[in-house]
Amino acid sequence: MKIMPNRLDRGFYLYQKEFEDKALEILRSGWYVLGNEVSKFEEEFAEYIGTKHCVGLANGLDALWMAFRILGIGKGDEVIVQSNTYIASVMGISMNGATPVFVEPDEYYNIDTSKIEEKITDKTKAILVVHLYGQSCKMDDVVALAKKYNLRLVEDCAQSHGSKFNGQITGTFGDIGCFSFYPSKNLGAFGDAGAIVTNDEKIAQDFRVYRNYGSEKRYYNKVVGTNSRLDELQAGLLRVRLSHMEELTQEKIAIAKRYDEELNNSKIKLPTVRENATSIYHQYVIKCEERDAMIEYLNELEIGTIIHYPIPPHLSEAYAYLGFKKGDFPIAENYADTVLSIPMYNGMTEEEQTFVINAINRF
Ligand SMILES: *Cc1c(COP(=O)(O)O)cnc(C)c1O
Repeated sequence: MKIMPNRLDRGFYLYQKEFEDKALEILRSGWYVLGNEVSKFEEEFAEYIGTKHCVGLANGLDALWMAFRILGIGKGDEVIVQSNTYIASVMGISMNGATPVFVEPDEYYNIDTSKIEEKITDKTKAILVVHLYGQSCKMDDVVALAKKYNLRLVEDCAQSHGSKFNGQITGTFGDIGCFSFYPSKNLGAFGDAGAIVTNDEKIAQDFRVYRNYGSEKRYYNKVVGTNSRLDELQAGLLRVRLSHMEELTQEKIAIAKRYDEELNNSKIKLPTVRENATSIYHQYVIKCEERDAMIEYLNELEIGTIIHYPIPPHLSEAYAYLGFKKGDFPIAENYADTVLSIPMYNGMTEEEQTFVINAINRF
C-alpha cells in the first residue's frame, strides 16, 4: 500500500460538489479579487476565531512581515522567536530589518517560556509565538511577560487553526494573529492564501490599506504598501472548507488518538500535549534517534514521511549573517536531527492508518 505523507486530493473529494459549485459560481460572477467572497470569508473567519476583525491576505508570510511593519518594528529592534520554527516566522521579522532573537523550544516543540526573560533587552519590541505542529504555546506565561516588559505580541497561527490554551483560541492572545491557508494547512485553500485577525480596528484598517498598495481610495496612496490581496476563488473555497472545520479538526484528532494508543515502539517518542493546551495536529511528529534509518525503512514500504524541519533557522544559509554556529541552540538542533512527521491527513482511511501503525511498530 502506497501512503503519502499528505493527500490534498482527499480533502477535495470529501466535499467535491460544494467546492465545484462554489468555484463555478465565482468563475461565472465576473469578480475575481477582493469582493463579496473575501468579505464574507473575513466575517466568518473572525467569527470562528472570535475576534472583531479578520483581513484576508495573499499568504501567511505576508501576514507575518506586515504585522511587524504595521506595529512599527524594524531596524535596531529585536523580536523573540523559538529556535525550531519554520523559516517563514523568522523571515517575517527579518524582512523588516529587525533582528530575530532565538529561544529554545520545550518538550512540546513550542517556545520554552522559562527561557524568554533572559533574552529580553532594551531593544526587544515583541514576542512572536509559533503554535508549532498544531499545539498552543504556554500562553499564560507569554502574555504575562509581554505585559511585564510592555512588548507587542504576535502569534504565528499558520499551524494552529482552532487550537486553544485554557479554553482560549490561538490568535486572540496578542495584538495580531497571523494565519496561512496554504493547501497543506488544517484550513487549506487551493493555492496561496492568508489572513490576520485582531481586535484592534486601527490595526485591521492598516492591513486593509497595506495589502492594496497602501490605498484606501483607488489611486490615492497613503503609504508604500504591497500587493497582498486575497482572491475570490480562494476565499470562496475557504468558506466551504471553514463550514466543515469542526469535523475536519475532529477527524485529525481521532487519527492522532489512534496513533497515541496504538504506536508502540521503544525506539520512538510520541508527541504529548501540555495540560490546558490542545492540539489540532497539523502534524503528528514522532522523535527517533535512528530517524534516518526509520525514513529509509518506511520508504521501502512506500510510506512517505517529512522532516519538519531538517535545518533550524539559525543554521540555514539565509541567516549566516547572524553569525550563529552549530551548538548554539542544541535543543533545536537535536529536534532537527530526530523529528519525523508521519502520514496524517483528512480522508486518511483506517486501513492506511493501520498500515502505518504496524510498519512503525515493526521497525
Ligand atoms: C506555512 C507557515 C508559514 C507561512 O505561510 P505561507 O502561506 O506559506 O506563506 C508561516 N509560519 C509557519 C509556522 C508555517 O507553517
